[in-house]
Amino acid sequence: MMTNPHLKMQGLAKSYGTFVAVEDFSLDIAEGEFIAIMGPSGCGKTTTLRMLAGLETANRGEITLAGTRIDQLPVWERKTPLVWQSLALFPFMTVRENVEFGLKMHGVSRAERRRRADDWLERLGISDYADRNVARLSGGQRQRVALARSLVLEPKVLLLDEPLSALDAHMAIKMQGELKKLQRELGITFVYVTHSHSEAFSLADRVVIMNAGRVEQIGSPQDIFLRPRSKFVAQFVGGISLLEGKISGKKDDEWFLETRDGKVRLGHGCGLAEGETADLAEGETADLAVRADRISVTVGSGWGENEIACTLVSEEFAGAVVNLHLETASGRSLVAQLQQRDLEQLDASIGARVYASWHPDDGFLLESARTSGSEPRERAA
Ligand code: ADP
Ligand code: MG
Repeated sequence: MMTNPHLKMQGLAKSYGTFVAVEDFSLDIAEGEFIAIMGPSGCGKTTTLRMLAGLETANRGEITLAGTRIDQLPVWERKTPLVWQSLALFPFMTVRENVEFGLKMHGVSRAERRRRADDWLERLGISDYADRNVARLSGGQRQRVALARSLVLEPKVLLLDEPLSALDAHMAIKMQGELKKLQRELGITFVYVTHSHSEAFSLADRVVIMNAGRVEQIGSPQDIFLRPRSKFVAQFVGGISLLEGKISGKKDDEWFLETRDGKVRLGHGCGLAEGETADLAEGETADLAVRADRISVTVGSGWGENEIACTLVSEEFAGAVVNLHLETASGRSLVAQLQQRDLEQLDASIGARVYASWHPDDGFLLESARTSGSEPRERAA
């Protein structure tokens, strides 16, 4: 809980007929924070943003901006403009006319409009195109016009819905850097929707992971990357192996997980650091997660404490590292990430028998699997 959130969303819900697009969305955002909302297509990201912008009325819940309820206010009184994926510029207007449009709607004088629009065109490096029709711009230029059109209104919160998805990869990366810089300079709160991991993780102060109309996890990019709480988040973030089993212990202060592929020891990553009392119960089912970069692969056995015999299924090259896809005797998939030079020393070909091992402290138990059902929730109509 944040003491004085700038923007507060509490229990937002939105249905279309009997279909629940957003079931329950709550989030406190600090002033100047960069929030990314990420999740698979159809999970309710755009609907959430549209409720913030006032383009959609929530069925339930409250939105407060700087201490004032805004969920009943019309769009133009909210100071939360939305920058769309489609960019939705007015096609028959020039760049400057597009940027001036919102100010005109607010009754700003002609001279003042021009001054403010030109100032933003300058800041975003598109002054040279001021008199050009927007239809004749490149994707990157259109993106800048869309930003200028929103920023000229001096919003308190800028909402961006997949703003870079229409750009080619090179331009998207360039704009990522520019957006981050702009957000820092202006100190404006950004709520940024994306399905791209790299955008969310490189830009945001905090990332919200959504699944089927609900929030799965909120945390810093590092939190989410290192400590996904649920199976859904672990799978969505990727590069994590999951082993399901039953907790067994407690022998000499040690806890184990009995998996279909053998027994592995649980370590500090499972809340078992010295002095901690793990609330583990004998016989309870749990999912153990291990990051790909923490798994070692050897041809011979006996190298690691937690070791599982596997078949090497495939190798996937990703620059300096390579992901080895392994399959256990029970058919479970594991993934190990190796440095290129370690692979050269491994000397195992596809189909070979290998051993995956990790230090017990590098494993962590998913929280959701232990408190509720481990599968992503089905969406109730
Ligand atoms: P996302 O942006 O995460 O891809 P959306 O918020 O656009 O998802 O949509 C969430 C779900 O709500 C989707 O299944 C979508 O089909 C549905 N939906 C969105 N808008 C409407 C609408 N106006 N009428 C009916 N269903 C809608
Ligand atoms: Mg969307």
